[in-house]
Amino acid sequence: MVLECKHVWNYISDYIDDSLSPETKELVQRHLEHCEICSAILDSTRNIVVLTADDKVFELPLGFSERLHARLSEEMRIHPVHAADDSS
Ligand SMILES: [Zn+2]
Repeated sequence: MVLECKHVWNYISDYIDDSLSPETKELVQRHLEHCEICSAILDSTRNIVVLTADDKVFELPLGFSERLHARLSEEMRIHPVHAADDSS
């Protein structure tokens, strides 16, 4: 099984939460090793979590996933990826 970037983006929040299965986590890690875009997204997503922690709020705020997805959508527009199903 080969992960595409958009699959990895779905997994990123779970990856940070460390709630992926070991198999999936390894696939994501392997992808991150050779994909700059996903590494950058992971970094920026982690920064959000860190900033939240610095603000003495150790639980993720409600709507975090929503905002994360909005952010990922934004990243997708900024960094277009050759998606397999984008053949129009
Ligand atoms: Zn990628």
